[in-house]
Amino acid sequence: MESSCIYCGCGCRLDYTVSKNKITKVSGVKTDDVSEGIPCIKGLSINEVFDKNRILSPMIKKKGVFTTVALSEALNFIYEQTKNLSPQEVFFNTSGKITNENNFILQKFARICYKTSNIDSCCGRLCHLATVMGMQDVFGVSNITRMDYVKNTDCLLIIGSEPDKDYPVFYNKIVRNTKLKVINVNPFIKSSNPKDFLINIRPGSETCFLNGVVYELIKKGLTSSVSGFSVLKQKVSSYNSKLVSATCNIKESDYETLVKMIFDSKNFSVFHGMSLTQHMNSLENVHSLLNLVLLKKGKVLSLRGEINVQGAGDLGGIPGVLPTGDLSMKKDLEKCWGKVCENKGLNIIEALVLSPVKAAFITEFDPLKSLPDTERVIKSLNNTFIVYFGSYPTDTARMSNVVIPIASLLESEGSITNGERRIRKVNKVLKGPLELWEVLKLFSKNFKKSGNFKYKTSKDIIKELKDFVKAYNDISVDKLWNNIDQWADKVVKFERFMPESFEGLDDSASKKYPFILTTYRSKFAFLSDEITENSPTLTKNRERIGFYFNIDDARKLGLSDGDDVVVESQINSLVSKAFISDRIPAGIIGAYMHYSELRVNSLFPLNFDNESFTPNYKAVGVIVKKINI
Ligand code: SF4
Repeated sequence: MESSCIYCGCGCRLDYTVSKNKITKVSGVKTDDVSEGIPCIKGLSINEVFDKNRILSPMIKKKGVFTTVALSEALNFIYEQTKNLSPQEVFFNTSGKITNENNFILQKFARICYKTSNIDSCCGRLCHLATVMGMQDVFGVSNITRMDYVKNTDCLLIIGSEPDKDYPVFYNKIVRNTKLKVINVNPFIKSSNPKDFLINIRPGSETCFLNGVVYELIKKGLTSSVSGFSVLKQKVSSYNSKLVSATCNIKESDYETLVKMIFDSKNFSVFHGMSLTQHMNSLENVHSLLNLVLLKKGKVLSLRGEINVQGAGDLGGIPGVLPTGDLSMKKDLEKCWGKVCENKGLNIIEALVLSPVKAAFITEFDPLKSLPDTERVIKSLNNTFIVYFGSYPTDTARMSNVVIPIASLLESEGSITNGERRIRKVNKVLKGPLELWEVLKLFSKNFKKSGNFKYKTSKDIIKELKDFVKAYNDISVDKLWNNIDQWADKVVKFERFMPESFEGLDDSASKKYPFILTTYRSKFAFLSDEITENSPTLTKNRERIGFYFNIDDARKLGLSDGDDVVVESQINSLVSKAFISDRIPAGIIGAYMHYSELRVNSLFPLNFDNESFTPNYKAVGVIVKKINI
């Protein structure tokens, strides 16, 4: 049976062979123009993870110990514990791991039963919210990506992403375009593809770099009639090559070459990832990148993290934004739903850490592992009543007061919206627990609101969703249910430059913390790894877990490959192995972000972009000590 993958924002279609409610094999789908029939190893090993280590029963924690209970008992318990809370005291997250239909009902339930607008998209907030905001600011629409633009691109600037690891099927498309010149800007001194023109950049200096490129292109004669150009021209005028080279740590000759490559390009595109967006100036970075795109009349090819993170945000998963998008359809919505809360609402960072709510409904998300400064998150949530809806156990599930099993994506029917805003059908591959919308339909009875949740199937939900979510108004549900991809709104509404100044690095090396630690992804693990860690194929192939050092730095520190080290930031220290890597530049230490064995996010203080609230996960000052045994 064909359905979607469960992992990344490429959103490949996969063919699942099923016997006795078990997946025995996963294959690519030749007609899938996303994967072109060749999905990545994560997708192809889903048969190893679908039934391992699952949450199977509702549980209530009593005196620190989980007890299995009936679903009705768990829901009644949650109701009794939370019924007197005010809308400001509860929080819900939408999730990129569940269908559009489940996300839509989740936020509808939060708005109707708890009257709250404290609803936020988990992966969206932590990864690419700055991209969504930046696109809205510059183009008036949150997503203009089309992966197939890469076929006609002659010069692709990749900044802050390693698509071979992050989005393998998109990487295949890059490699297939043999005429494509790739400029790869990231902190590493070795690229996966030796043909790339590789530019190492100091983590956190991206706005300076991009402003500098725009300045050089204008100097070479590029101009624009788009609104804001004169302010942009003035703002970038101080970003000369000397300043950029010194700030970003780039060789001037390399910089000149890359500017020429971009200037000479006829069909320029950009692709960016979380090394651009997970900084304290993430929105500035995105604006600066999009300024370059506008100036070059280029294309944006950037994707998103989880398979349905786009949908999780589109359908009312951003605080203060109704599922209708703007307020023009609010009256129609309220005719059906009753009055909805107009408060701005708290985002994940506010609701879980800065001013913790009294009850947090967490769905398929692990804030304990995913947020920076784990100790602070644990302390903040100490007095919060946590309800966890999920399919795999996580640290947050273990800390929760109530755990409710829900269907995984493979056990759901509905749709996802991939990183291109392409809406794809999700078919129910396996029988499993109730879907989240079915659980919330039952729970709505406690609030005497079941009239608002009379759906019989997920198709009923998408019919309602399509009417209320402006960006989805034009889709055909019948075609989607016949497995024909649909597209949410991608029409550019306007164009304007958003000039930005570079305000400085997130964190820089100092006498006390002489190295910068940065994080990145493996192609053999997905985000917080609670699913991929169950796959023998992936765990067998994955890289060694530890801190990766430049060879000269290792020599100076007296480190050999495999030595034990302590890496300490201003808030925490971790003991792990030291490994020597030929891709890490001097002064930088690298670590994979996924693994329970090395909770690297716990070294990052909770510093975030003031606009998007996306935390910095890409640059923190650390000191290293060798452990002498
Ligand atoms: S590229 Fe992404 S969507 Fe495609 S198979 Fe791999 S993990 Fe799944």
